[in-house]
Amino acid sequence: MVQFNELKKQLATYLSKEQIELITEAFHMAEQAHSGQLRSSGDQYITHPLEVASILADMHLDYQSIIAAMLHDVIEDTSVSKEDIAAKFGDKVAELVDGVSKLAQLKFESRAEAQAENLRKMMLAMSRDIRVILVKLADRLHNMRTLGALSRDKQRRIALETLEIYAPIANRLGMNTFRLEFEDLGFSYLYPVRYRVLKEAVRKARGNRKEIVTSIEAALRNKLQSEGVNALGIVGREKHLYSLYRKMRFKDLSLAEIMDVYALRIIVDSIDNCYRVLGIVHSLYKPVHGRFKDYIAVPKANGYQSLHTTVLGPHGVPVEIQIRTEQMNQMAENGISAHWLYKSFTDENGGNEAEVRAREWLKGLLEIQNNTGSSLEFIEHVKIDLYPDEVYVFTPTGEILSLPSGATCVDFAYAVHTDVGNSCIAAKIDRRLVPLSSRLSSGQTVEIITADGAHPNPAWLSFVVTGKARINIRHWLKNQQLSESRSLGKRLVERALSALSLTLESIAEENFARVAKELKLHGKEELFEEVGLGNQMAPLVARRLAVDSPKGDDQTVAPLAIKGTEGMVVSYAKCCRPIPGDMILGFLSAGRGMVIHRDNCSNVSEVRRYPEKYVFVQWAEEVLGEFPVEIRVDVLNKRGVLATLANAISDCNANIENVHVEERDETHNAFVFLCLVKERKHLAQILRRLRSISVVLKVARNK
Ligand code: MN
Repeated sequence: MVQFNELKKQLATYLSKEQIELITEAFHMAEQAHSGQLRSSGDQYITHPLEVASILADMHLDYQSIIAAMLHDVIEDTSVSKEDIAAKFGDKVAELVDGVSKLAQLKFESRAEAQAENLRKMMLAMSRDIRVILVKLADRLHNMRTLGALSRDKQRRIALETLEIYAPIANRLGMNTFRLEFEDLGFSYLYPVRYRVLKEAVRKARGNRKEIVTSIEAALRNKLQSEGVNALGIVGREKHLYSLYRKMRFKDLSLAEIMDVYALRIIVDSIDNCYRVLGIVHSLYKPVHGRFKDYIAVPKANGYQSLHTTVLGPHGVPVEIQIRTEQMNQMAENGISAHWLYKSFTDENGGNEAEVRAREWLKGLLEIQNNTGSSLEFIEHVKIDLYPDEVYVFTPTGEILSLPSGATCVDFAYAVHTDVGNSCIAAKIDRRLVPLSSRLSSGQTVEIITADGAHPNPAWLSFVVTGKARINIRHWLKNQQLSESRSLGKRLVERALSALSLTLESIAEENFARVAKELKLHGKEELFEEVGLGNQMAPLVARRLAVDSPKGDDQTVAPLAIKGTEGMVVSYAKCCRPIPGDMILGFLSAGRGMVIHRDNCSNVSEVRRYPEKYVFVQWAEEVLGEFPVEIRVDVLNKRGVLATLANAISDCNANIENVHVEERDETHNAFVFLCLVKERKHLAQILRRLRSISVVLKVARNK
């Protein structure tokens, strides 16, 4: 616990005697005002303002800020008034204390909800005097450090607020050291179990990493030395627990995938040398394309400067490397507070890069505030700045949802509710219909259209970014595939048994159990599943089942009927695009179930040599659904011919999925339409209709 005498010694290193005298008076005022009050920890209340002042003294903040820190809780909690403070320490200090007190009353439940007004007040207080937020951040930091004394409920609320409001503000002001401590403490109190588990996992993983990091470091050191560049430091960087956690959560990566990335920082003495070192690093290890960022020439919004690159180190492991000067490094850690900490950073305008940028940012916010007067629009701007890797979108009822940047309509649907995601069929952004894969931007209103009986599409997995969407889609597909493959497997086994004059019913349960055991499977259902997925061949399974089974009457082998509703375990080959009415064959491919080809497909002749792999199939009497088929149309080059063809096709009640030009010259065009048809008769009708058009030279179904 800091004693006032120690703080005084610290202050003496950078403040004048008169200033320290004033701070001493402020200390006495606070001590007297808070006397008899205790912290939840049982400590005297004065320990808190003392610690806050000491955090600010570490940052070499000016004497007015230190006085404000000392008195930051007196207006709120004691009989001392703003006027009392003004009379003794001047208006500036009184304003500062008043500003911090007002911020103390703001409670942020969660950023996605209606705290717009509170955040606006906070930003306005900051823009009047940026020191207000520094005192407030130091106050919050000490409260976080002593959070253990509070009830579990309060811990959770304060930790959440710290993660959602204070850490991003510290980040926006470039104060990385603050941000990291906020995140680490906030994470540990909000999710204590996850924190402990992750910490342990990282500790274990770190052991294995040591060797490789050391070898990369040594290689770099040697190379830099031989090139005559003096590196002030090469340090392996630890990824912080909270950022690891966020990556796992939002990018749906495993710990191993994240820990697989090594990170190093190289500190040099000049900007010139930053670029020289970059060249040397790239000559030593192959850079990963698209990962180089020059934040020296173009600093980040919070003033952060550094070169970033990713290279492939030994054994091809990716290594993230940051290269920067000592000054940039201090700026990266302290942001605007570097202005007080390192006087040398201050330019003639009285501010450092980060501070100038912070002021510009706040000025911009003020302008928005003045121009719009709408606190929602204002808050949208603040949020985009504070949480750059998230988007904020509205539900049709005006609720705000936050999603990681890059999120699509499907991510949104799953964020609303799993059922909405599972049954979504279309989406509207700002009232206009858009593809489900559309990426969202902040401020949009998103509406999801659902349909009963609709279900997730495997293709969604290629564009969703949230873990929630991904997990739910996979889960649904897995269940679906399971039940479909079981029912297909059952039918395949039934058919194979009929070739042996047996029926499913005639096979004793012991036989199923025995065969499953022989194939190392868990029972009858899994046996069907494996057959349906193509991992076991139905005729072989049937033969095993047939052992010791009584024969029934002789039966002819009926081909398996395809109804068009089999779903994921039956698919239709893209090479020949079979449609109902075509002669077809079914091929089993391991893990993918059955693929239906046309009997005369050229790919079939090859596989036909493996009779155990194909199954005689035929279309059921009634087939449901529509089937894609390719139609090639050769036409004379006439204006509007494509529209004529498209109209003709849609006149026949067929949807066009896609069209492309296969050949083209001065006089001729060959279009290929991908249409959805019901069966062969439907196709024939379309072909006839196309042939009747005068400019059409030739119409054929593509093989
Ligand atoms: Mn306080």
